[in-house]
Amino acid sequence: MRLDWRHLGTGLADAADGAVVELQGFPATPAPVTHAACFVLLAEAPCCGGCLPADPLGAVEVFAAASLPLHQGALRLQGRWEVRRNTGGWRYRLRDARSLDPPGWSGLTRRGLLAAGGPLMCLAACAPGVRAAGPDAARAVLAATPAVDTHSHAGGIASVARMRRGAGFSPIAAPMRSGGLAVACLAVVSDGPTHHIAADGRIHPYRTPAPGELSNYAAVAFAGLLDLARAERLTLIADAAGMRAARAGMPSAIVAAEGADFLEGRLDGLETAHARWTLRHLQLTHYRVNELGDIQTEAPEHGGLTDFGAEVVRACNRLGLVVDVAHGTLPLVKRAAAVTTKPLVLSHTSLARAPGPRSRQITAEHAKVVADTGGVVGVWPPASIFPTLPAMAAGIARMVDAAGIDHVGLGSDLRGLVGPSVLPDYDSLPALADALLGAGFNAEETGKLLGGNYARVFLASVR
Ligand SMILES: [Zn+2]
Ligand SMILES: [Zn+2]
Repeated sequence: MRLDWRHLGTGLADAADGAVVELQGFPATPAPVTHAACFVLLAEAPCCGGCLPADPLGAVEVFAAASLPLHQGALRLQGRWEVRRNTGGWRYRLRDARSLDPPGWSGLTRRGLLAAGGPLMCLAACAPGVRAAGPDAARAVLAATPAVDTHSHAGGIASVARMRRGAGFSPIAAPMRSGGLAVACLAVVSDGPTHHIAADGRIHPYRTPAPGELSNYAAVAFAGLLDLARAERLTLIADAAGMRAARAGMPSAIVAAEGADFLEGRLDGLETAHARWTLRHLQLTHYRVNELGDIQTEAPEHGGLTDFGAEVVRACNRLGLVVDVAHGTLPLVKRAAAVTTKPLVLSHTSLARAPGPRSRQITAEHAKVVADTGGVVGVWPPASIFPTLPAMAAGIARMVDAAGIDHVGLGSDLRGLVGPSVLPDYDSLPALADALLGAGFNAEETGKLLGGNYARVFLASVR
């Protein structure tokens, strides 16, 4: 069905709710970008980024299936029409939109149309929807709800050589302070000594660790992390009171481990790590099929979570550690969800309709298993998946569609991603908050996504 701008606000446009429609218009974004997956569509070309109509019927919010070129003038789009009444924002949305213009198409340019028809009035201050975004609004969100990165190797702590040397780290506190990040879950990489990037460009284990090797490495890595936190003057969050006291401008850290390989199949190592190294966030598996269960990137061997893995989940519940099921297979996550008495975290991934073989992405079903424990799925920022922060915001919106607004967070995997990141440092955090506001989340929702949801899980898990 083809819609025209004069249909907006009429029974015809409202009755199209849920239908696949076509609409032509001019894209506009809060910031000048050449490509975006999330923008508004206008009947006429805007004269500047902030120049948007005040009328809720004057623009259509677009969430594209992929990033689209916005610098070529008018776009002819097809997508799922959504009617939103009494939201205070734009009335209509186009979901999963794709361009109907042929590749290389260059439509009417803005300049051309301005010459023909003249610009709209600048009404940025009083228009609804995306005009709420902007640097001040983003900063206000980060100040109101402490932002938490659910998975980070900030400082470069994923490097085994750096951890062993105890030197060569990059600053953590200063970028956290300037970007407004309150809490980083800093993860040592338990199986770091035994994996590498293989010929396929992906990380695989390449040898079996010697007995004692990974517990010895973890002792070095945890001690190194505590030294670094001290040097950076990071406040370590070890209990609920610590989480409640977290604030932007006062950088804090939660000691985390990516992979429970350091346990080497024994529970006593967990109590030691909890008491001696302040470990409060444990990811069960990483790049090695370990004693706890199966991983997404290698062939399954255990059929999911092992009995020992289930024991570790129960011990985390008892001791007060957040259980993170990132990298685990869906059967692992399902059994962990059945065993745990506390919400689960899946700290860094993104949604895919049909993840490829050995992919680290997850399905909506997988996300829902975590959400149903009351937990949180952290969305990560590989540039190969999200080329821009608005595209990442759209990816977060898709995860919210799958898991719910109370069950999505941010997992940057800072300094841990193979390949470029669209969130390469914490200075970019306000721009992500801005993109989320621009994607239609209000300030409260954006606060939940960037930290409030993780804080809730931490408080439920850690006394
Ligand atoms: Zn990871
Ligand atoms: Zn990582």
